[in-house]
Amino acid sequence: MLKPLYITTPIFKSNVASEQCNAEVFYKMECYQPTGSFKLRGMDFLMKDLASKGHKKVIGSSGGNAGYSLAYVGNHMSIGVHLVVPKTTSTYMIDKIKRFGANVEIFGENWDEANVYAINLSEELKLPYIPPFDHPQLWQGHSTIIDECALQISKPDKIVVAVGGGGLLSGIFEGLLRNKWSNVKIVTAETEGAASFAKSFNANQIVKLEGVSTIATSLAAKQVASQTLHYAKQFDVEPYIMSDKVAFMGCQDFFREFHTLVEPACGAALSYSKHNVLRQGEKVLVIVCGGVNMGFEKYVEYKEKYLSEIQ
Ligand SMILES: *Cc1c(COP(=O)(O)O)cnc(C)c1O
Repeated sequence: MLKPLYITTPIFKSNVASEQCNAEVFYKMECYQPTGSFKLRGMDFLMKDLASKGHKKVIGSSGGNAGYSLAYVGNHMSIGVHLVVPKTTSTYMIDKIKRFGANVEIFGENWDEANVYAINLSEELKLPYIPPFDHPQLWQGHSTIIDECALQISKPDKIVVAVGGGGLLSGIFEGLLRNKWSNVKIVTAETEGAASFAKSFNANQIVKLEGVSTIATSLAAKQVASQTLHYAKQFDVEPYIMSDKVAFMGCQDFFREFHTLVEPACGAALSYSKHNVLRQGEKVLVIVCGGVNMGFEKYVEYKEKYLSEIQ
């Protein structure tokens, strides 16, 4: 067995959030993965399987953290990675991805267009296609987060987790079932411009958003995976939606306490404890999903954008 490329991340207590909420707030620090996000776990599982079957090249479709982790894993396993990314992908991310030796092709106005193109290309070239969130082996990898938590802390009352396409959430559900933590309440965090999970959950069926608009780009999937909604029906789930500004404030508070920058997608989950909805003494675990698409320049840009509104 190859050693995992992801690490066991620590859990830290947030003194600031705990004090603010009169509760116990813990952070699972996925931002400390070598690729800055939990995405490494899923990609490690999926790519290891493909490597064992002798695959030498794959095609993916993400200019975000999934693509970044895929490039990292491909680099370590000597599997060629061809990534199709939409025009909206920043040169900041493209440069980071290329540093791991991946081949980057820019196609389409948004992720959906890049994704359709990547799927067609993979069929044409008979190469495995690597999705960013909708794959059982990605969920299996992400579920190791909960295996670790179960060894690190006693069972929390609530787990707060950000939702984009639902890959992370599906992994969390699988980990909760395996570790007999299935009565933990799940709070799903999304910005109002990308609330595809909340809409689907409330409608009890998959709802596809017409468009997405948010600074939390890692949450900007128009539609969640159907398995995510299927799992959600077996749990006590509370969707939580906030503005982009509040998500950014989550990043800022986290930076002040732990000296680490995370994306607004992660700030969305971190902002939950701001809402003063926690009951006294409640024990809350926030999945600090991380994200590398938040350089210092971008932080300053958002800070200036919201400066008039926040302290
Ligand atoms: C991918 C990602 C998400 C959302 O994960 P999904 O599996 O798409 O739901 C949230 N935050 C960060 C930092 C991510 O990279």
